[in-house]
Amino acid sequence: MVAVLEKDKTEQAAGANAARPVKGEVRLRNVRNMGIIAHIDAGKTTTTERMLYYAGIVHRMGDVDDGTTVTDWMDQEKERGITITSAAITCDWQGTQINIIDTPGHVDFTIEVERSLRVLDGAIGVFCGVGGVQAQSETVWQQAERYGVPRIAYINKMDRLGADFERVVEEIHERLGSEVAVIQLPWGKEDDFKGVIDVIEMQALTFDGGKDGVGVQVTEIPAELAGDAERARATLAERVAEKDEALLELYMENADVPSEALREALRRATLKNELVPVLCGSSLRNKGVQPLLDGVITYLPSPLDVPVAEGVIPKTGEAVERLADEAEALGALAFKVATDSYVGRLVFVRVYSGILKKGQNVFNTRTKRRARLGGIVRMHADSREEVTELKAGEIGAVTGLRDLTTGDTLCDEKNQVELMRIPFPEPVIFMAVEPRARADRDKLEEALKAMAAEDPTCVIRHDPETGQTILSGMGELHLEILKDRIDREYKVEANTGKPMVAYHETVMTAGEATHAFDREIGGKRQFASVSLKVEPLERSAGVEINFDVSDADIPAEFRSDVEGGIHDAVMTGVLARYPLTDVRVTVTGGAREDEVTTDVAFRTAAVMALREAVMAASPEFLEPIMSVEVVTPLDYMGEIMGDLNGRRGKVGEMHMRDDSQIIHARVPLAELFGYSTAVRSLTRGRASYTMEPEAFDRVPKSVRETLLES
Ligand code: GDP
Ligand code: MG
Repeated sequence: MVAVLEKDKTEQAAGANAARPVKGEVRLRNVRNMGIIAHIDAGKTTTTERMLYYAGIVHRMGDVDDGTTVTDWMDQEKERGITITSAAITCDWQGTQINIIDTPGHVDFTIEVERSLRVLDGAIGVFCGVGGVQAQSETVWQQAERYGVPRIAYINKMDRLGADFERVVEEIHERLGSEVAVIQLPWGKEDDFKGVIDVIEMQALTFDGGKDGVGVQVTEIPAELAGDAERARATLAERVAEKDEALLELYMENADVPSEALREALRRATLKNELVPVLCGSSLRNKGVQPLLDGVITYLPSPLDVPVAEGVIPKTGEAVERLADEAEALGALAFKVATDSYVGRLVFVRVYSGILKKGQNVFNTRTKRRARLGGIVRMHADSREEVTELKAGEIGAVTGLRDLTTGDTLCDEKNQVELMRIPFPEPVIFMAVEPRARADRDKLEEALKAMAAEDPTCVIRHDPETGQTILSGMGELHLEILKDRIDREYKVEANTGKPMVAYHETVMTAGEATHAFDREIGGKRQFASVSLKVEPLERSAGVEINFDVSDADIPAEFRSDVEGGIHDAVMTGVLARYPLTDVRVTVTGGAREDEVTTDVAFRTAAVMALREAVMAASPEFLEPIMSVEVVTPLDYMGEIMGDLNGRRGKVGEMHMRDDSQIIHARVPLAELFGYSTAVRSLTRGRASYTMEPEAFDRVPKSVRETLLES
């Protein structure tokens, strides 16, 4: 087996965490929280399965093609062959605890990728040896880059016809802009793929002729590859020496640097995001997976190697840091809600600091409530292990906390912290949903609530005017899957309306209004007056509410009513009942009279004042714009471009990849309904595309008219 670094020599890298002694240091150095990011079909699920298998936990190798894998939980995923939920699975490799956080591969769910990226310390990018760097892997890779997540690249499917290691390495460099450190070469390819050449140790590795490749045989590098391997090692040493002073010194003495020093230096460079070690294999054929596990330990960060967790003290807003240290106060972030058929609601958490203990009272900084922690489980590939605690740096799931949801922080009530909140994009599409049978009303309600709790991009709302229940999400496929879950998982028969675009309203200028509410209700006069000002904010700023008013005008006890009124009015806009966004509301004045001023009067005055101020501030519609990437054979490029133009699309960057043309465009979601059918028929099924919400933009005049009429 490939040698793994001695743990206590592991470099104290970039993270401020590593600068001082911490409680639990030895344990922490042997933890890897990592994720696998990939384009759909690159082999993420298969690779995860094999890793779990070799780490000795799964007793029967799962196979995506039979739909028996461990990480794909839901039926739809198995059928569609895509992984939607992220679960964290713990396994052990060579005495290191590896927590594999499964990230989804479908674009409608990139938010799930983002939230996984928050809690993992390192990642493996899996690439298909044939397909190379594909659209989705590019998106996710850049997201990882933004979060500063150190990565290793694994070029999978070396057994497939057309696999080309060098080309994919080049694409990782050229298209992803990452500096690569090739540490393995493939031994043979396609049907003839035998194993990998380890260019650090300069040896060849093959994997048991037997079915599951459990054994790893180390042999000499075959003569025909000796030259390539020598050159690869020389390049590797040079590359790493460029990035690492310590190695450079050795390199100057002798270019043939010792393996151990090379690995250590490459680890340092990887942790600093300066190099990406590249490995290869064929997960399906059980070749190359054990060295990949070694790579996770050798090159990816422990919780001590990453920057400390940042948060704020909720009461004061003061910034604080939480160190990966068992002796610190508790700080744990909930990042995923899942419903498990055996234990019910499970919330995955990462403990950043301190120790999370079963039975302990934990404080949720969002709900401001304290609750007793019912249970803690660690998820393994084929079992749940009940544990009594999770320590700093660990990932697991908690049970019995009903209010806890994604993004919440659990901490000690006496030493509070709110770890970074996870921003969610606004839903861009919605549809009405109703039970087929009246008797199912409650059941449907429950199903919707459960789904919304798990998935912050699934939003439920009731339209008081029509009495309809509205389900919103991130795309047509997202809604389709939610509908599917209502049917199958919650067994409620429901009818859904046509998916519709979630337009917003906003203001283009500032506007002011004063509304005095003065009316007799039930024979009793009620009075209150509110003055306020609205101003435009930048895109995706949301709604900001400020009070710049004296206690005499609006007494403190009525502020929440005024605020409530503003919230109500924001929900329904002024043009066509779409919610308002990107607006700053400042309450500038008010009036009351003893005896006749009530909370209802203040609330109503606020609603009316806001509507009037918005009317005076040039209200406009905003529409969701999707970022679309189409991959098409050159022959069909004209058709695709013409069609995009017809959809109000703005074509941006274009480039070639092999024989395909890649087209990037920004297209209003309103024009994208049925796009998959169009692409299929325009190109006889030879083009594919991905899309994700990018922004909200002002609608053109023609669309404005139509929206006003509807
Ligand atoms: P994911 O979408 O990234 O999770 O990819 P999967 O693991 O579901 O794999 C997609 C398809 O590629 C499945 O049919 C796998 O059997 C196949 N596959 C995965 N790894 C390999 C490999 O190393 N070689 C070959 N030939 N096929 C593979
Ligand atoms: Mg998968």
